[in-house]
Amino acid sequence: MSNLRVPREKIPWYPTIDADRCIHDQECIQFCKNNVFDWDEALGVPVVARPYNCVVGCDACAAICPSEAISFPPMEEFKATLRRLIAEERAQQQGQGLPVVQ
Ligand code: SF4
Repeated sequence: MSNLRVPREKIPWYPTIDADRCIHDQECIQFCKNNVFDWDEALGVPVVARPYNCVVGCDACAAICPSEAISFPPMEEFKATLRRLIAEERAQQQGQGLPVVQ
């Protein structure tokens, strides 16, 4: 089992909301069980209040949004970013003399 861990806060995976497309039905807030969204009463749109609660790789809220107002990073771009982060983490552990499991 690998002890290689990239801190969640370094992983850029979370939804982005296009407020201009939003139809204010709050489906995303009802849907997400990880409490990623809050409702902004003043603006009448959801906000991504806790982005790092989002499960890495999950984009289910984008699929349920009827107005396609929710987007995620392109998967190929995200995979490249993740590979870079893992390589950086591995290099950092090796620099600290920690054992790295391949
Ligand atoms: S599901 Fe889509 S349209 Fe509905 S509130 Fe969320 S972002 Fe807006």
